[in-house]
Amino acid sequence: MREFEFEIAARRVVFGPGSRHRLAEEINTLGSQRILIIADPSQSSTAKEIAQQLGTSCVGTYDRVTAHVPIETAEAGRDRVRELDADCYLTIGGGSAIGLAKAIALEIENPIVAIPTTYAGSEMTPIWGLTEGQVKRTGRAARVLPRLVIYDPELTASLPPQVAGPSGMNAMAHCVEALYAENANPVMSLLAEDGIRALAIALPRVVAHPEDIDAQSQALYGAWLGGLTLASVGMALHHKLCHVLGGTFNTPHAETHALMLPYVTAFNLGSAPDAERRLTAALGSSAVAGALRDLGQAVGAPESLRALGLAESDLQRAAELVTQAPYYNPRQVTTENIRELLQDAYTGARPRA
Ligand code: NAD
Repeated sequence: MREFEFEIAARRVVFGPGSRHRLAEEINTLGSQRILIIADPSQSSTAKEIAQQLGTSCVGTYDRVTAHVPIETAEAGRDRVRELDADCYLTIGGGSAIGLAKAIALEIENPIVAIPTTYAGSEMTPIWGLTEGQVKRTGRAARVLPRLVIYDPELTASLPPQVAGPSGMNAMAHCVEALYAENANPVMSLLAEDGIRALAIALPRVVAHPEDIDAQSQALYGAWLGGLTLASVGMALHHKLCHVLGGTFNTPHAETHALMLPYVTAFNLGSAPDAERRLTAALGSSAVAGALRDLGQAVGAPESLRALGLAESDLQRAAELVTQAPYYNPRQVTTENIRELLQDAYTGARPRA
């Protein structure tokens, strides 16, 4: 067995259908008196229900949530916090709502409580992101890690299937890359493997029957494990590629993850035997990259980079950006081999074994 180091950020998680109704009792332990709700616009009725539950401890609701946290939105949110003298940020929404709370907390430190409504996993991480001009900066700060996370599978049931599927594949990507992380460790690999198993079973079910709360629970459990692994071990080529594609070519976050994962998995497997063994067990197939491709296509991943709006002439630039400042990866990356991988994703070819 290889040597390893292990660290985990201990935070409270409450998981189960209807668990949002326990919020008032749970939040008491934080001692917050002036809670600001930061809600995705799709969650306005849940935000009202929660505000009622909190009574006078809720000082307002802020819903200017947009993708990738533009600095202007973060600054407007910080102004609102000062105006209301808020002492806690309660998010109801996906990665964009949680990202906004993190950007606010970066400057005005207060505990964050998250009620996630997608599978992106940001609620488990100390990773923040802020977009200024065309450039998205990211970083890590302990103060932005949510102190309490309430996973209520009844809330993901309203996700439209075309959002749910790619969002679940985003969680899958966290789990897959955790298996071959530079600082991988046996405990996180166990969690990642179980996350992959849960997501592979649950995603086709939640896309076909969003009202199936048992399937939603399993998908959200996989999402939780995805977030936990993303927070705990380093990510590799897949996350770097998605960062470049989203940041430079403006491709949508979850859809880019869903499309690229099988190609990167095919690229890395020969250099990551333990990951291959665990993926084979979790997916119930030894043709791992093909199984991920089939799963992605079944749950609404885009067909190709071409379908996401990239031009073939963009591929060389993307390959250069990936290799200029590469993340750790189990297989060595070169501009040539990444250009080849991107070509396959561009045409939507079946990932090479
Ligand atoms: P999102 O939060 O932007 O939500 C996607 C869409 O789904 C939005 O239109 C939203 O209104 C809608 N929506 C959300 N929940 C819904 C529900 N239950 N029912 C109906 N509609 C709903 O997308 P996301 O994929 O959750 O998050 C993406 C963002 O999060 C990106 O900016 C990404 O970089 C960031 N992210 C950060 C981390 C981290 O650790 N910091 C991890 C993952 C993602």
